[in-house]
Amino acid sequence: MAGIYLHIPFCKQACHYCNFHFSTSLRNQSELVTALAKEIVLRKDYLQQQPVNTIYFGGGTPSLLPAEALSFLLNTLKELFVYNTETEITLEANPDDISEENCRTWQQMGINRLSIGVQSFKEEELRWMNRAHSAVQSVEGLQMARRFFDNISIDLIYGLPHQSHADWQSNIEQAISLGISHLSCYALTVEPKTALEKKIRTGQYSPVEPDKQSEQFMLLMSRLERAGYRHYEISNFALPQKESRHNSAYWQGAHYLGIGPSAHSYNGSSRQWNVSNNAQYIKALEQDELSFEQEILTPVQQLNEYIMTALRTDTGIDLVKIGEDRPRLLRIADRYINTGHLMKNEANIWLTKEGKLLADGIAAALFKES
Ligand code: SF4
Repeated sequence: MAGIYLHIPFCKQACHYCNFHFSTSLRNQSELVTALAKEIVLRKDYLQQQPVNTIYFGGGTPSLLPAEALSFLLNTLKELFVYNTETEITLEANPDDISEENCRTWQQMGINRLSIGVQSFKEEELRWMNRAHSAVQSVEGLQMARRFFDNISIDLIYGLPHQSHADWQSNIEQAISLGISHLSCYALTVEPKTALEKKIRTGQYSPVEPDKQSEQFMLLMSRLERAGYRHYEISNFALPQKESRHNSAYWQGAHYLGIGPSAHSYNGSSRQWNVSNNAQYIKALEQDELSFEQEILTPVQQLNEYIMTALRTDTGIDLVKIGEDRPRLLRIADRYINTGHLMKNEANIWLTKEGKLLADGIAAALFKES
């Protein structure tokens, strides 16, 4: 089973913290859509006829695309890839793009899951992040989306400098009370070259407090556990049967085709990523060419990638997949089992709640040296 990701690189305005590839100019939108369709055609053999289990429109803000463009891209995929009515088709949407008409149109074209960029239900937090929507639009958008879709995910951000635990708690409660079946929750990260990084560097904004972020993460885990959500990946929580099949496939090492500027692809032995520039992307495809870089993964890199992604999931590392490297891994893991950060049984190693706070560091310690 394989997945397809389409990157739609347009946004209404730039959120202060964001370092994804996007443009706030919609000028060359139709040329970009034409280029995306052309890339789909040129790369129709990348997945080697594996059935497509999931399609994901991410960005950027895919809900900004006119329905005709989304439908055109979906139809292009349908003609060239093997998929069926069970395929999970996700559209990332921002609350201010959610209307009755849009929901109906998206549903009719086969989209069956929405991932909505709520980030917060508090007006002052949204303004601080420079989000394009209001808190009222978040709630109304979700209520409307729930009339059409039973598979809805929202993104929330915690660990803002001025965000109290009570503020964060109330965002979580709001999500639960709205009946949201999947939550992706991220600690605010200060990425280089973002407006947020500059504002903190120049003293306009206070710096983030890692200890407070850890406390809010613990609060999140215990509240959602009590509400019946499965914490199936460090940042992801789902009610029964509502896990994201698309992201789960990534974490299990499935192959995926990434279409669009900055999109990544993986075929089991190599990883490649398209140019992160809309004009260059369009220009190359006008000449029937692809502009990308590629990395062939060594066996050690593949093993370390598996350790990194699997450790973030609740099932953890499958020891069978580690093969002959198992004694080395178990020796290092024992140190973290003794400190209460890891647990193991015959088949798997996984992070405890406290271990999840240190996931990247523990993964790095388990890496094999090349
Ligand atoms: S809407 Fe999403 S992709 Fe666009 S700037 Fe904001 S966080 Fe980034």
